[in-house]
Amino acid sequence: MAIEKSQTRIGWVGTGVMGGAMAMNLIRAGWQLTVTNRTKAKARPLLEAGAIWESTPMRVAMRSDVVFTMVGYPADVEQVILAPDGILAGLNRRPSDQVPMVIDMTTSSPALARTIYERAVNGGIDALDAPVSGGDVGARNGTLSIMVGGDELVYELAKPLFQDLGKTIVYHGSAGSGQHAKMVNQILIAGTMAGMAEALLYAFRFGLDPDRVLASVSTGAAGSWSLSNLAPRVLRGDFAPGFYVEHFIKDMGIALEEAGRAGLKLPILAETCALYKQLMAQGSAREGTQAIVKAVARYNRLEWKNLINGWQLSKVDKLKLPETISTEEDSQDENNSKE
Ligand code: NAP
Repeated sequence: MAIEKSQTRIGWVGTGVMGGAMAMNLIRAGWQLTVTNRTKAKARPLLEAGAIWESTPMRVAMRSDVVFTMVGYPADVEQVILAPDGILAGLNRRPSDQVPMVIDMTTSSPALARTIYERAVNGGIDALDAPVSGGDVGARNGTLSIMVGGDELVYELAKPLFQDLGKTIVYHGSAGSGQHAKMVNQILIAGTMAGMAEALLYAFRFGLDPDRVLASVSTGAAGSWSLSNLAPRVLRGDFAPGFYVEHFIKDMGIALEEAGRAGLKLPILAETCALYKQLMAQGSAREGTQAIVKAVARYNRLEWKNLINGWQLSKVDKLKLPETISTEEDSQDENNSKE
């Protein structure tokens, strides 16, 4: 049976930065939604827009035909979908003629996507893995890129829903292929984020005006989403998420694990992941991924906020940056040796 606004009931589990904005786009497009989230307060805008609240993923599934998940980690996905009181259990208990479907949009492991697919199909439930790219901005604007794995016929059925969530919707193959495509995306992002951080640091060190540098390089061959969207946030001193540092470390870990299993070594990804882990150890787990500039500065024994402050001052006072910039740590501990 086709998926249609008049007859298909949608469930949504996980209403954080991404899930909240995506579920809102489905409501605005006219779908009937039942939602849940670990912290109810984060679902409030959806409830005010007409969604129904249920207290658990299983109860959401019991009153839905298609259930989306957009939670944080593979362990969360496993719990909300596969646990005895999870979505698969709920979908099996609901009264409806429609073949039930679960669509996981979390960035999660390809191996788990295959396990979910097998368990779902054995229970007469369709399953897709459909992670996204495009960030908080793409989620709000409904312009996400959606990478889908699973059965192609099921993907075709689910397309009307994807079209209300994103602009670029691509089927990649059997279960787990959507997550593999997303890992390709994350490998690319690791490179562009590291490049953005090193390039900005270099620009500061040689006294260039970073706004002018961005104007020169953002639209040429060096351009990237990271540079256009996140470098301006960095220059405003805005490290709010967006995309959490801890989630990016999760993604790079999955990509490194999958690559390792296939005998691949990805040295740039490994180095970028190590820098992000240092950043997390310094308390930045819940900052946005643009905070990588802090780790790259510290690698050079510099403090990012001193660089920004120096630049702001130079704009006001027309002063030049000093030849060498000392860190707060340097001034406290002159004896530290350089790495
Ligand atoms: P987030 O704000 O932390 O959202 C995750 C939500 O899932 C939270 O609201 C969390 O509840 C909820 N949740 C987790 N476990 C749950 C459970 N067992 N039952 C019910 N709710 C549960 O993270 P996000 O930024 O939206 O990211 C979600 C996923 O999308 C991640 O896998 C991330 O890697 C991926 N992603 C993010 C971006 C981005 O730019 N942010 C872009 C592409 C992909 P609480 O509210 O209680 O924490």
